[in-house]
Amino acid sequence: MKNTLTIQPFESWVPSHTRPFIISGPCSAETEEQMVTTAKQIAATGKAHALRAGIWKPRTRPGQYEGAGEPGLAWLVTAKKETGLPITTEVATAAHVEACLKAGVDILWVGARTTVNPFSVQEVADALKGVDIPVMVKNPVNPDLELWIGALERLNKAGISKLAAIHRGFSSFEKGPFRNVPMWDLAIELKTRIPGLPLICDPSHISGNRELIGLIAQKALDLDMNGLMIESHLNPDAAWSDAKQQVTPAALAKIISSLVVRTVSSESKTFKDTLGVLREQIDQLDDDILSKMAERMKISEKIGQYKRDNNVTILQVNRWDEIIHTRISMAKAMGLDEGFTRDLLRLVHHESIQVQTKIMNKVEDRV
Ligand code: PEP
Ligand code: MN
Repeated sequence: MKNTLTIQPFESWVPSHTRPFIISGPCSAETEEQMVTTAKQIAATGKAHALRAGIWKPRTRPGQYEGAGEPGLAWLVTAKKETGLPITTEVATAAHVEACLKAGVDILWVGARTTVNPFSVQEVADALKGVDIPVMVKNPVNPDLELWIGALERLNKAGISKLAAIHRGFSSFEKGPFRNVPMWDLAIELKTRIPGLPLICDPSHISGNRELIGLIAQKALDLDMNGLMIESHLNPDAAWSDAKQQVTPAALAKIISSLVVRTVSSESKTFKDTLGVLREQIDQLDDDILSKMAERMKISEKIGQYKRDNNVTILQVNRWDEIIHTRISMAKAMGLDEGFTRDLLRLVHHESIQVQTKIMNKVEDRV
């Protein structure tokens, strides 16, 4: 289907012309003190261009913190007054939109759980008719590019032309190293289909843990994304939502400082050139290989536990012989060099033995 969106250039509506555009703040606004102190610390780093906080939180299970609701908007407004930074929050209903417009929120975003539902997106779009406010649309939780584009179209049809997309990864049944699998090719495809659309990456929700944020952020910049949304909190471990993936404002500053911003000489030139495309494919494959390797080691751990509990030795020569033979003939059929395959298998097997040895010698969790 043809994509006919009328989008104003990012530079015409973002409050800062720097690249990348950094949005940061807590997952949820919890108290006025938490919100304002976090915001001040973020502003003091000089690394962020906008503040975020969830006011209405879509939680997977009931009984978890569902946000401060409307009173929390006033805290966000105070944070803006104190720091001079524009503010952004998630809206999912017409009532949310009205409350945000009344409070003077600068930028709105539609969350991943809302983008999946055309009824909800339409409700938000209808509430925004005739309003000139920037709106960012997170990808739907499921990897459906049409649904993502559909949400952008609904908003665009309602007259919203200051539009951006937020890539926050996709939910998956298989548990890998990421909370939400990035599936970079989907974000690239979106950019290819709607070239003028600013794209912001949310490494916090992709990684689900603070260690991977820098890596994801760098990758997003290398894919020529326009900005990053990173969750930060004055005391991350004590956060009322998404504690594992939040960082302190000081850690945020470190992450941002360590990013390498590569410039493109002409608009999206390297992004599209052949070498760029091939490298992206290589990057994607490397991610897959590493994820699979991590999965393999987890299984080795389980095997180690099972062998330990049944008093079986770690090394079983027959099994190793079988692995070598079957894998090498398979790899040969795939056009891989035998020596390379043998070296690779040796390395993997060695690590697998190490993992199992650790388990074998671990006393505390024996039954
Ligand atoms: C959030 O930004 O805190 C949030 C709820 O994100 P998502 O919609 O991506 O799950
Ligand atoms: Mn969050």
